[in-house]
Amino acid sequence: MNNIPKLIDPFNRAITYLRVSVTDRCDFRCVYCMSENMNFLPKADLLTLEELDKMCTAFISQGVEKLRITGGEPLVRRNIMEFFNSISRHLKTGALKELTLTTNGSQLHRFAEQLAEIGIKRINVSLDTLNEEKFSQITRWGRLVQVLKGIDAALAAGIKIKINTVALKDFNEDELEKIVKWCANRKMDLTFIEVMPMGDIGNENRLNQYWPLSDLRKRLTKTWTLKDTDEQTGGPARYVRVYETGQKIGFITPMTHNFCESCNRVRLTCTGELYQCLGQEDQVDLRKVLRKNSEIEPLLEAIHNAISKKPKGHDFDYSRQSISGQMSRHMSHTGG
Ligand code: SF4
Repeated sequence: MNNIPKLIDPFNRAITYLRVSVTDRCDFRCVYCMSENMNFLPKADLLTLEELDKMCTAFISQGVEKLRITGGEPLVRRNIMEFFNSISRHLKTGALKELTLTTNGSQLHRFAEQLAEIGIKRINVSLDTLNEEKFSQITRWGRLVQVLKGIDAALAAGIKIKINTVALKDFNEDELEKIVKWCANRKMDLTFIEVMPMGDIGNENRLNQYWPLSDLRKRLTKTWTLKDTDEQTGGPARYVRVYETGQKIGFITPMTHNFCESCNRVRLTCTGELYQCLGQEDQVDLRKVLRKNSEIEPLLEAIHNAISKKPKGHDFDYSRQSISGQMSRHMSHTGG
């Protein structure tokens, strides 16, 4: 089935990519993302699995052909596989071209096979270090072995993995070559994400570890030959090909504006707010519309209204995330 884009914004961009957060919860407490004692949203505020399905289906009916499921950590949402199973029906009809997710990998060993079975072909895994001790330091609650087991399970199930690594000076600087090689050996792509100098996150102000990707890239060229590619995904990543290994490496710098013209995406939070731009805070409450109306038309109208107000560009400042109440999504979950 050919899904004709129907969501065209005022700058003539077709919106074909929806990122959906299914939970604000996570089983890790990465120091740059969450404080140790998080207050999560009350359950009633979250879209139910049925509501999530309805929302996504509404977008798909309007030409969205790529869905990325995010969190928090999407795989810790109770019964999330019910949602994946159900929404995968749109893959079968051809209306949806790609269903994917961004995960911290902790639950992948449990779900990899099922995810592959329902048609998930690619997954992004956020992973900042291959050192067990450093891993528990940065994630606070995470265990590296569990994540590696999940990655292996996904690869064994035939799923392609892209690793998203936040570049942190004095933290994973010394692992640069190791991470690149590790990914190359497993035929995994890799994206480095730059963070800006950070202020206080919860009780953490320790991570003042800004490492510009320009420097990281220069370091890579000491070992490898990098060839620029003109690959565009409509997102913030810029890609190079590593001549010696054939792998693709992406770079995401938070302040970059160079992808706005080709932006094809919007994002929906787990409480049903639609953010028309990844880097701006304007949003529309779709949950209210969904809960007030049993018919689908008012929701479709609200979606079209929101898209008609999609701003031309953004003013990224991912580093200043507010942690009170709902967490703003971290760049590692933006993932290009
Ligand atoms: S960065 Fe990702 S894995 Fe870490 S606490 Fe935030 S949501 Fe969880």
